[in-house]
Amino acid sequence: MTDPGRPDPRRAVPRTDVVLADPRLRLAVDRIGAAQVMAAVRQAQQEARSGGLAPVDVPDRAVAILPTGASELRSVINATGVVLHTNLGRAPLSTAAIAALTAAAGYVDVEFDLDTGSRARRGRGTAAALREAVPAAGDVLVVNNGAAALLLAVTTLAGGGEILVSRGEMVEIGDGFRLPDLMAATGSRIIEVGTTNRTRLADYAAVIGPETRCIVKIHPSNFRITGFTAQSSIAELATLPVPLIADIGSGLLRPDLLLPDEPDAATALTAGADVVTCSGDKLLGGPQAGLLLGAATLIQAMRHHPLARALRPDKLTLAALEATLRGPATPTFAALHADPATLRLRCERLAELLGDDAGGEVVPCQGAVGGGGAPGVPLPGWAVALPADLAERLRTGETPVVGRVTGDRLLLDLRCVPEATDSALAEAVRFAVAAGR
Ligand SMILES: *Cc1c(COP(=O)(O)O)cnc(C)c1O
Repeated sequence: MTDPGRPDPRRAVPRTDVVLADPRLRLAVDRIGAAQVMAAVRQAQQEARSGGLAPVDVPDRAVAILPTGASELRSVINATGVVLHTNLGRAPLSTAAIAALTAAAGYVDVEFDLDTGSRARRGRGTAAALREAVPAAGDVLVVNNGAAALLLAVTTLAGGGEILVSRGEMVEIGDGFRLPDLMAATGSRIIEVGTTNRTRLADYAAVIGPETRCIVKIHPSNFRITGFTAQSSIAELATLPVPLIADIGSGLLRPDLLLPDEPDAATALTAGADVVTCSGDKLLGGPQAGLLLGAATLIQAMRHHPLARALRPDKLTLAALEATLRGPATPTFAALHADPATLRLRCERLAELLGDDAGGEVVPCQGAVGGGGAPGVPLPGWAVALPADLAERLRTGETPVVGRVTGDRLLLDLRCVPEATDSALAEAVRFAVAAGR
């Protein structure tokens, strides 16, 4: 029963087709799909029906609650100072890699030879780029991620036999995943060698038997054992009569002077590793991928293993990886090698842009490599310190900003923020400061 004296609010609520005629919503149908636009329209109509919204405001409200993108993933400003932040997607791609993966999004000749019109080897350009980057590799193969690379290497070489692994290298890589469990999942038996802090060549030699199929040397990429320690080197292990897989983790292809303790593929192969496995989205600075580099006969066996088909990367990964290998310095490299003096200047400019209201103070701080690489390597830099209660408002703002909270302060470290984003960051902070008032 409606009161005859008052118009029924349900009648005043604009019909769905009328709301959908709004050009902003019509365009959104192409951008994010009809279902999501309809959901926003229905919600706005519902709010008007229940009296919380004036009927004329329904189109504006629907536009306001539309999801910003077709995916729930939100792009984030990483002001943590942690270069390879696993929770923030590890390595950000270079513009070259982004362009390559965008170009590969449609039909591409990923497995097709345009000259002959026949089938061609998948990802051959990426493999060529990787071989050029690491001439010491007899052959290379790209899979989904570092764990997949290790899985394929171990399955191919050891499947059902024994794998020797030092007790000092039984690594959990994060989120509860442990490399020994991964290797055991191949049906192989792990023979633990030596002790947590010391494992010598003789320890390996003593346990090699008829069932031994390979040695896996794992780089402890996210922790450090210091003190009375010893691990056998790749060169030493290469003298033993079984194939040696070196899981170097972070994907440095060549030595980086900034990270003297971080193993690299070229050095590991030259020292005698038969196969090197690593990630594409750690220090290499590319897309999520796993790289296998090494002796041609072994890599070929891995390429032809049935599991390889299940672990193969998609065309977007292949495109972005090739562009990373051939292209300009990656954002990861730039962030790692950022000049502290420049960071300080940018922080001073940011603090100035924020104005006195924000109370930002420029302070020295330590960044980190993060993401399972170079633990304990300090990256001295600068940050703008703000009150910690801004952290949540910055995370949940229109442009999410993630900083580092220490005590009662929120540090915004500019190491991983592209300089072109400084003004957007200032805008986000000003907004968060104003919203808190
Ligand atoms: C990170 C890491 C892996 C796993 O690589 P993903 O690309 O994350 O799958 C394996 N081994 C080591 C030593 C690592 O550091």
